[in-house]
Amino acid sequence: MHKTFRGRYLLLNSLCVFAFVAYTGAQNPQHPQPQSNRYAAPSPAAQTEQQNFPPQLLDELAAIKSAALEDDYAYRQVAHLTENIGPRPSGSLQAKAASEYVAAELRHLGLEVRLEEVKVPHWVRGAEAAELVEYAGQVPGTTQKIVLTALGGSTSTPIEGISADVIVVNNFDELKALGRERVAGKIVLFNELFDKQKAAAGMAFMAYGEAVRYRGTGPKAAADLGAAAALVRSVDNADYRLPHTGWSFPAGIPAGAVTAEDAELIAHLAAQGKVRMHLTLTPQKVPDETGFNVIADVKGSEHPEQVVVVSGHLDSWDLGTGAIDDAAGVAIAMETAELLQRLHLHPKRTLRIVAWMDEETGGSGSQTYARDYSAEFSNHVAAIESDAGAAHPLGFDAKMSPKAAEALRPALDVLHSIGANLLRESNYPPGADIAAMSEKGIPALGIMQDGRTYFNYHHTAADTLDKIAPASCAKTPPRWP
Ligand SMILES: [Zn+2]
Repeated sequence: MHKTFRGRYLLLNSLCVFAFVAYTGAQNPQHPQPQSNRYAAPSPAAQTEQQNFPPQLLDELAAIKSAALEDDYAYRQVAHLTENIGPRPSGSLQAKAASEYVAAELRHLGLEVRLEEVKVPHWVRGAEAAELVEYAGQVPGTTQKIVLTALGGSTSTPIEGISADVIVVNNFDELKALGRERVAGKIVLFNELFDKQKAAAGMAFMAYGEAVRYRGTGPKAAADLGAAAALVRSVDNADYRLPHTGWSFPAGIPAGAVTAEDAELIAHLAAQGKVRMHLTLTPQKVPDETGFNVIADVKGSEHPEQVVVVSGHLDSWDLGTGAIDDAAGVAIAMETAELLQRLHLHPKRTLRIVAWMDEETGGSGSQTYARDYSAEFSNHVAAIESDAGAAHPLGFDAKMSPKAAEALRPALDVLHSIGANLLRESNYPPGADIAAMSEKGIPALGIMQDGRTYFNYHHTAADTLDKIAPASCAKTPPRWP
């Protein structure tokens, strides 16, 4: 079935970056050879740079970059995870199958692989439908359909649904000002806008961070005031009337996300008078399941006890097939190992590929790792996660000391030719699954990618393989008239 891809230069655009820094981290030669230098008096910084990045290492990094640009291994992994296995919500059969698949593939590459058990929540989507049944100017005998989806952790309405008045708030302060008296028994809609201008200007993840807190804690805030149900405006950068699901703090009431268009509709009608909705959401929380983190080592040749973690998360939401979130990240991590094996490169430190389970619904996979491996954290040299899609790589978000960031500069220079040479220092962990390690002081890196369209598809039915453009790694060539 992989024949389809043969002969095309398919690559997962960020893998070159990933493999690259992983290998850099895993090297750091202990006995650098003195380098001849035609400049009379090299500065101490230049000397350190040369010691850390001798010509052989720079050659190897360039070889990794070239090999990554011509390889379709990562793309084939994403294709299998998304199209053959499908959506991989925590606790699902597909999530389990995905763990087994990734483990088998990495064993096939010659890695030491273990599947580590993780207790994961299991929540199953049910029916989801809504319509406005009373509003200003309503044509008798008609209703207005509302497009929505349940948020992870939502409880169920009765099978026949509920009917309640809708109140629209723009923020938590407005909700608080209404008070229990006006909120109790109602359906609360949080109409927080996703800042599309920020996204267009390259700050999509910042826009997401601002808007997503209503999805995260809005339902609980509404429930605390006695609301019958809570809805949020989808955290959404596009205009395709797609609802975006996602995790929400358990609130004990039905909770959903309406499309941005439907949030506008409800807000406009609510400004004209009473709006009443019939809402049916019947998801179920079923017993916890056993899931698996896949942990696979390329043992270091000189310092096997020292570890560089390279990772992505294997679970996904259920609406789409989890291509950009985050089969891409897992495939990028897998490709890192594949490239090193294929090029017969032997990192001095252990390169640990991790495919995390349950990033989306609570993070039990990374929490289990942090619990089981905390004694070894002093030997964790760096932790890397890819969880920002598969668009053009720009460089890295890094939480590490300025000195450590500076030490990576020669590696970044090699990435200049593909435009992935930025290093943006971050005050917060650049990946949910590596947050615990980052907070313990382990240098942490996330791939910084072009995120301008990421939130068009994120957590929707449209997060599918076709959203990954395999050839977007290179810089755009100049256009001539
Ligand atoms: Zn993700």
